[in-house]
Amino acid sequence: MKITFWGTRGSIASPGPETVIYGGNTTCVEVTLASGRTVVIDAGTGMRRLGDSLVARDGPLSIHLLMTHVHWDHLMGFPFFGPLYQSHALVTVDGCKRGPDSLRKIFSTNYVDGTWPITFDDLKAHIRPSHKLLRGHLSLDDTLIESHMLQHPQGGLGFKFTEQSGSFVFLTDNELLEEGWAGSSFKDFVRFCRDADLLVHDCQYLPEEMEVRRGWGHSDLASVARLALDAGVKRLFVFHHDPWRTDEGVARIVERITAMLHDSGSATVAEAAREGVTLIL
Ligand SMILES: [Zn+2]
Ligand SMILES: [Zn+2]
Repeated sequence: MKITFWGTRGSIASPGPETVIYGGNTTCVEVTLASGRTVVIDAGTGMRRLGDSLVARDGPLSIHLLMTHVHWDHLMGFPFFGPLYQSHALVTVDGCKRGPDSLRKIFSTNYVDGTWPITFDDLKAHIRPSHKLLRGHLSLDDTLIESHMLQHPQGGLGFKFTEQSGSFVFLTDNELLEEGWAGSSFKDFVRFCRDADLLVHDCQYLPEEMEVRRGWGHSDLASVARLALDAGVKRLFVFHHDPWRTDEGVARIVERITAMLHDSGSATVAEAAREGVTLIL
């Protein structure tokens, strides 16, 4: 399994001199399965460059797009996704319940008049909805993909990919709480992440920022460190960087988590997701 970060930022794209290291594009992650199949998580602004890359690769364009949820920062790159304008492309949309409908609606002039110059029906690719992950899991070739409810306004899904080479858990826009909604307590997430080789988790805030951000659906570094520790994950990547967080601020989050893990005697390695970086499992 190969994981490439095309967009790592939360809430709104935030390019600029202070975000060049970790990137300014919003959520979009490419997962290349052992079989070679392409799975894409979320359609944030990072999706534009991923689309160009997929079209340039000259292979069959059969893509699974898994939507965590449909907040703007996870949706707005979709009209700029190059494969949508290729007649031989097939895009299967799975993940959260609202995904297929919301991807269609952003083109709709009935939704908000005048937001985009073409309609969904003008797209050349074949786009089909699938709702397997809503029912719990999706098997693609030799990869098992499971889903878990997120603790986030309007809900959403996180995903776990398991192959012979290891497991990768992706949880963004998730507020870790002792007792969350049914099925999303801290213990439930520990269970879902148990022994993962790689965990990518929302870490938008610092503990000292949480008082006024409680209920916004994002986690702070202390709760993310505890999840990695309790679940025994091997590598942790913090993700969904706050748009106001500079590169220096993101690096400081990693330093603080590393110190917490070290103090607990954990061997977990903490890093920050960085646009353009590929991880191999
Ligand atoms: Zn988000
Ligand atoms: Zn969100």
